[in-house]
Amino acid sequence: MAATPDLPGIPSPPPPGESALRAGTFDGTCVVVTGGGTGLGKAIALEFARLGADVVVASRKEEHLDAGRRAIEELGARALAVACDIREADSVAALFDQASEAFGMPGVLVNNAAANFPVPAEDMSPNAWRTVVDITLTGTFLCAREFGRRHLAAGTPGSIVNVGASYAWTGGPGFAHSAAAKAGVVNLTQTLAVEWGPYGIQVNCLVPGLMPHEDMTGDIRSNLDRTHDKDACQPALRVGERQELGWAATFLASPYGRFISGHTLVVDGANWHRRSLTNPTVVPVREQMGLGPFEG
Ligand code: NAP
Repeated sequence: MAATPDLPGIPSPPPPGESALRAGTFDGTCVVVTGGGTGLGKAIALEFARLGADVVVASRKEEHLDAGRRAIEELGARALAVACDIREADSVAALFDQASEAFGMPGVLVNNAAANFPVPAEDMSPNAWRTVVDITLTGTFLCAREFGRRHLAAGTPGSIVNVGASYAWTGGPGFAHSAAAKAGVVNLTQTLAVEWGPYGIQVNCLVPGLMPHEDMTGDIRSNLDRTHDKDACQPALRVGERQELGWAATFLASPYGRFISGHTLVVDGANWHRRSLTNPTVVPVREQMGLGPFEG
């Protein structure tokens, strides 16, 4: 990755492992991170762990769960890995039972898990659509719902950080299912923030820019590999580093972010605003993906 260009008067981001928040900010707080065993979810989980949280990693696959748990324990923090399919309300309830038993009621929920793969809309099967929307939007709702119900019943405050994507606002050619689901996630953030604000539950959303990582699925990686140099195409002249999303997540859930709710914070170096009157030449999605003509 290209380093942030050194500009006079403003320091570059610190190296991974540093934090702007006080050590121990999340001491005694149980933080649940869905999809916390891979990529950006793991990076978020590690930033909470560094600041003292007991972290629960929730996803389906054993190898992801192990990777997340091990990385957190290597920092000296307590971790629990729970097999969970966020599409299933019972599985989500069992996740919160296990988390509460191990570390007490989760005070923070990070709804990071999502599914995605590129496919032109005309080729998208009903099953592909349902799967992505079920995981990304319904899964986010079910986890938030479980968290909210438990806090409302107990009369305790909490903080939810959802993870969106900027094609929630722009549309996402080649990603109709994921873009529509993320639009739902951004919208849900606003509704829940108002409904649950009176009970002390904050609900915010983070939108990462392009943050490549080694856990990206083959589909997503080859979609990225098909295009030009990533750094030069960003207004910041670089792609994002995953810990930058972790820093934003810990800030939103920290005492310093207590009055922020219903907000979607974009961490992308202004990339999604990059429009001009003469955009690059239009290349149909099929062509971008190296597919032949649609044959029905
Ligand atoms: P990733 O590595 O593909 O992670 C997805 C995670 O979700 C995996 O850990 C997966 O674990 C989990 N998951 C999938 N289906 C699940 C289910 N049904 N139940 C429970 N867990 C499930 O993705 P990423 O790149 O780190 O992205 C993380 C978040 O950032 C996503 O919300 C994504 O949309 C968003 N985002 C990423 C980028 C980027 O540049 N990376 C850009 C914009 C937005 P299992 O397979 O073990 O279930």
